[in-house]
Amino acid sequence: MTEVPLTKDTAPTADALVVLDNVNKHFGALHVLQDIDLTVARGEVVVVIGPSGSGKSTLCRTINRLETVDSGSVAIDGKPLPEEGRELARLRADVGMVFQSFNLFAHKTVLENVTLGQIKVRRTDKKAAEEKARKLLDRVGVGAQADKYPAQLSGGQQQRVAIARALAMDPKVMLFDEPTSALDPEMINEVLEVMQQLARDGMTMVVVTHEMGFARSAANRVVFMADGRIVEEAEPEQFFSNPRSDRAKDFLSKIL
Ligand code: ADP
Ligand code: MG
Repeated sequence: MTEVPLTKDTAPTADALVVLDNVNKHFGALHVLQDIDLTVARGEVVVVIGPSGSGKSTLCRTINRLETVDSGSVAIDGKPLPEEGRELARLRADVGMVFQSFNLFAHKTVLENVTLGQIKVRRTDKKAAEEKARKLLDRVGVGAQADKYPAQLSGGQQQRVAIARALAMDPKVMLFDEPTSALDPEMINEVLEVMQQLARDGMTMVVVTHEMGFARSAANRVVFMADGRIVEEAEPEQFFSNPRSDRAKDFLSKIL
């Protein structure tokens, strides 16, 4: 993994994969994202934490334009995300997303879940798509479940299929929005381990999670949000042992 700088100001632009520049967004009167500057370098793992309602999910959703922004810009690999159209669809496919609620297609098999996007969006032929899907399913440890339907799998298995499905699109960056929050405790680790491995393999990742063990071991940087703002960002060790802001201190005292 490349050496990753701590702040936007020191990030080598050539290596900047995701750039949010002064992003603002409102939901009615609620200023949900306020002056967000965030740069994620290629190969970097950024963990986003913060209290419920602070805007973490909205931030994730702006990165692939599931949410529009009121002002500021979002760029992926040097290309600004347009409002709509074919170019947006193409850029969006570069951003893999894994949600809290696995969101698999219930009436498709596991294998079909992982081939569908490849065939429809990437125009991969069926045989090649299936080959790739089986490899990815093996990689996340659910190769034996390929012909089952999502409901026949445990939550941890379903979430790993969701990760395989996102990876099948060859994303440049993977977004994870509380991927283990809906899981029974005994299944959390099997999903975190897959994410750890991805991080080690050099995938660029933005991960919203309250799993501090993951943050400590996999993150290059922790971004702490409160009330729609990035309040603090630091390397994990520094953040957890010596948070600077009162908001972060208060938050950590409640969860650690
Ligand atoms: P987090 O993921 O940090 O819990 P969210 O990004 O989900 O926070 O939400 C931030 C705030 O925006 C919350 O107050 C939430 O109720 C509000 N919000 C989120 N989505 C919408 C929406 N589609 N319409 C109106 N308000 C929303
Ligand atoms: Mg959320």
